[in-house]
Amino acid sequence: MDCLFCKMVNRDIEPDIVYEDDHVLAFNDINPQAPTHILIIPKKHIATLNDIEEGDLALVGRLQYTAARLARDLGFAEDGYRVVMNCNDHGGQSVYHVHMHLMGGRRFTWPAG
Ligand code: 5GP
Repeated sequence: MDCLFCKMVNRDIEPDIVYEDDHVLAFNDINPQAPTHILIIPKKHIATLNDIEEGDLALVGRLQYTAARLARDLGFAEDGYRVVMNCNDHGGQSVYHVHMHLMGGRRFTWPAG
C-alpha cells in the first residue's frame, strides 16, 4: 500500500520515534508547528476519521491516551497543549492515514485558521 505512514509502521521509512506500542506509533513531525509537534498514528491503516468503525473505538481512545501521557512525560501537560485531527480537504488533511497532532511548548490561539 502506498501510504507514507504505513511505510513508517513497517520501517520502510525510519521516523523519529518518541513512543511505540503494539497498536500506535508516535513520532516527531518533519515540519513542526510548535516546540513539540508529535504525530500519533494507529498502526492499522485507516484513511480518514470518516473511516473509523465501532471496532476502532479503543484504538482512537488509545491515540488520545497516548497524547495525554506524552504531554505529561514531556512536561507541558499543566501549561496545556493542542491536539488536532484534520479530516479531508477542508480539514487540511494531507496524509491519508489517521493521525493525531500533539503540539506543545507554546500558547495556541483560537479559532484555528
Ligand atoms: P495533516 O496535514 O494530514 O493533518 O498532517 C500531516 C503531517 O505529516 C504534517 O504536519 C506534515 O508535516 C507531516 N509529514 C508529512 N510528511 C512527513 C514525513 O515524511 N515525516 C514526518 N515525520 N512527518 C511528515
